[in-house]
Amino acid sequence: MQRRSFLRHGGLAAATAAVPFQAPAQIGNQPSMKITEIKTFLVGSTRGEQGGTGNISGRNWVYVKILTDQGIHGIGEAYSCGPDEATVKVIEDYARWLVGQDPRNIQHLWDYMYNTTRFPGGSVVNSAISGIEHALWDIAGKAAGLPVWALLGGRVRDKVRLYQSIGGSSPQEAAENAVELRERFGFNACKMSPHNPGDNQMPYNEVTRTAGERVGAVRDAVGPDHDIAVDIHARYFEVQRAIRVAKQIEPYYPFWLEEPIRPENPDAMKKLADHVSIPLASGECNYTKFEFRDLINIQALDVVQPDVCVCGGIMEMKKIAAMAEAQYMMVAPHNPMSPLATMVNIHFAASTPNFLILEYRAPVDDARRDVLDSPPQVNDGYADIPNQSGWGVELNEEAFQYYPPRPWKRTTGFRADGSVAFI
Ligand SMILES: [Mg+2]
Repeated sequence: MQRRSFLRHGGLAAATAAVPFQAPAQIGNQPSMKITEIKTFLVGSTRGEQGGTGNISGRNWVYVKILTDQGIHGIGEAYSCGPDEATVKVIEDYARWLVGQDPRNIQHLWDYMYNTTRFPGGSVVNSAISGIEHALWDIAGKAAGLPVWALLGGRVRDKVRLYQSIGGSSPQEAAENAVELRERFGFNACKMSPHNPGDNQMPYNEVTRTAGERVGAVRDAVGPDHDIAVDIHARYFEVQRAIRVAKQIEPYYPFWLEEPIRPENPDAMKKLADHVSIPLASGECNYTKFEFRDLINIQALDVVQPDVCVCGGIMEMKKIAAMAEAQYMMVAPHNPMSPLATMVNIHFAASTPNFLILEYRAPVDDARRDVLDSPPQVNDGYADIPNQSGWGVELNEEAFQYYPPRPWKRTTGFRADGSVAFI
């Protein structure tokens, strides 16, 4: 058995190598394997001129590619939580720790990244860990000759239910978009914002009244049986405000009410849950089993929404899902990132019994069509489950030159008095 040590990979790792890890030289009938290099790609989500100065429209996507001495590589996606360059730097730092390790010891390498960081990671560190973890699973699947879902307990369903957000700057436009998306892609669910443009400037009663009008317009357009999720996007700070909006839209039977308040306070979410009859969903701003623990244990939610690109990766999301399952909660993964994140989520959904539905955006724009060799498609409202080894897709690295990264930040909202709103 070959004795392995973290000592050889730089000063930061050297400080943590008091008990070197000893891994078997081979796993089953597969030869030993070592990580040789970890690459990152920062790719713009909109087409642009190579070397252009860019603008603030469109976010970037952060990709990870791990190479091994067996010629097998894996790919993953980290959340672009911004600043995206910070996530790239963390991945590059972790590369110094991980080169030389067997990529198939995924839990051990996750522990190595998570436990060795001085403080529990925030969005940037957990995004980096997530992207790396995806690539490790891709390698493990390719080495075994199996899809990742087959390594996660096998498949529990034949296809994966999808929904898409409808947008719309007015109630009428939102309603038209919902109908168009259903007719074009076969969805039987959608998600919408209850807010019209300028809501930050409105009195509370106007926000509440127009939220009802907006949800009502979409319900009238799609009929009684289409599932309509309503996403407040953590724009409310006060529980009472969320309760009033929830009461206004209850007659339209929403699928769920998403992020009705800020994510920091599970007790406030529980108070809300005790006052409304709409299922509550949240979790896109939370990471790891530790942050989901209170939300799940106090029954503050009906639907948990971890994001596989920031929650710690697909195995961490399986653990969160298992905690939710024990409390009779469903999982509807948050998934606004690129088609690679969608594919990782499809493997999660394929193998998870309390999966409900996956957020999705059809690859009809340039970047979503180009960044993968074969982006996941929607077929009558569902995605197929791939049967190739690993994730079943590859990055289209030649296309990246047409999508240079750009400076990007979220829009800032201001209230009528000039103070900064949540958005
Ligand atoms: Mg959301």
